[in-house]
Amino acid sequence: MAEKKRVEESLDPENWDELKALGHRMVDDMVDHVASVRQRPPAMFVNEQTAAAFMKPLPVEPEGLDAAYGDFKAGVLDTHGGLNTHPRFWGWVVGTGTAQGALAEMLAAGINFNMPGGPFAPVLVETQVLEWFKGVFGFPRGASGLLVGGGSEANLLGIAVARNTKAGFDVRKLGQSAAPRRMVLYGSTETHVCIDKAVQLLGLGEDSYRKIPVDDDYRMRVDLLEAEIAKDKAAGLQPFLVIGTAGTTNTGSFDDLDAIADVCEREGLWLHVDGAFGAWAKIAAGAAPLVKGIDRADSLAFDLHKWMYMPFDVACTLIRREEDHFRTFAEHPDYFGAASTMKMRTDYGLQVSRYFRSLKVWMGLKEHGLAKFGRLVQQNCDQARYFEGLVKASPELELLAPVASNVVCFRFRAPGLPEAALNELNAGLPRMLMGMGVAVISDTKLRGRTALRVCVVNHRSRREDFDLLAGKVREAGAMMLQRMGSR
Ligand SMILES: *Cc1c(COP(=O)(O)O)cnc(C)c1O
Repeated sequence: MAEKKRVEESLDPENWDELKALGHRMVDDMVDHVASVRQRPPAMFVNEQTAAAFMKPLPVEPEGLDAAYGDFKAGVLDTHGGLNTHPRFWGWVVGTGTAQGALAEMLAAGINFNMPGGPFAPVLVETQVLEWFKGVFGFPRGASGLLVGGGSEANLLGIAVARNTKAGFDVRKLGQSAAPRRMVLYGSTETHVCIDKAVQLLGLGEDSYRKIPVDDDYRMRVDLLEAEIAKDKAAGLQPFLVIGTAGTTNTGSFDDLDAIADVCEREGLWLHVDGAFGAWAKIAAGAAPLVKGIDRADSLAFDLHKWMYMPFDVACTLIRREEDHFRTFAEHPDYFGAASTMKMRTDYGLQVSRYFRSLKVWMGLKEHGLAKFGRLVQQNCDQARYFEGLVKASPELELLAPVASNVVCFRFRAPGLPEAALNELNAGLPRMLMGMGVAVISDTKLRGRTALRVCVVNHRSRREDFDLLAGKVREAGAMMLQRMGSR
């Protein structure tokens, strides 16, 4: 009796030429989508019909790539406004990306390289990019780095290296609870929440994290930092780390890194700089002085997907001394095999499997050159300054924080309206502006007051976009005021 014919399958297409044709269509659609972003509303909300398309059962039998792509196009692409790719998106800190970067992502996924290290060209791409960044931020040749998924992770890695290096005992073996004295660290009241998470995850505990008050410019009070360190030392605690922020999320302020570095040097503390977006002020002609002292950091975290306009997700950690970095994360289990004898990328961070995220960075920098990015960062600062001028010139608007870089915090004014009602009015404005198809901005609280917040990390914005915003905020504010009056 003949043996039943063995059928072995793969996930490859039946017809490569058909795949190419569909792929070309995808590229066309995607590039058209990006190229026409200004013609779409900044934000589109999904309707019930669209939402229903995402509640279908898991397909057990094939629907085919054509159908899957058709569903993506109808359900996602065509229902999607510009959001953060739109020229008038200025909410939170969300980068724009580029169509070219999207193509680089396709290439990276095509090669599908998983980078443990070793003599492979894609490893050299990341190494090259890290060398470039060491140069940009004035880090020494002996520094190391790693590309990671975001600023939150980049900060976590930096703080982990700081903790392990400064502990004075083997934290990896004994654990944080073996610390003879409580290890304390310092940030400001404006420091990003990812530092709180890192402190929690590393077992340092929030009680060990001092949030130093800021001055009227939202910069850490260095005199109070020194006083707090002295107090903690006198109490027998172990200060080990100061987090300086280059570009705070709320107002775009910059801590005085040079002054903080002086304190760290004097007190023997590690200086970690969270430069998630603001580190890139370094490459802008006018803004560079804001990050004076950044080259003195022991560790530095920054994003490429915010103020470098690269597609999500990619960020970077730099560590001044490679051996500190390696000693914090190196692990060589038997199952790494022969590779185990050499230093691998995973010896510098958490991920073992990692995708080829350096490619879009390398290609983006090659395509445009650093100077162009520097001009764009400066352009965003200039646009923020321009919008600040519009706010100041308008009696209905009020500036709520000094503009240091690319963030403008302001509000709609309504003389005579109680503070609580004014807060309520302003808190409703971002949603209203989205609904009107004007722009996406966010809101925050500054000293108890609700502020509208415009953060420009957008290479597509133009001056006219800010004129439009100023006018529409006045219009929307007046409408809200009328509504509230008729309640
Ligand atoms: C955005 C931001 C972070 C977090 O970075 P992600 O890339 O979003 O994880 C940290 N610090 C500051 C100052 C930020 O603006």
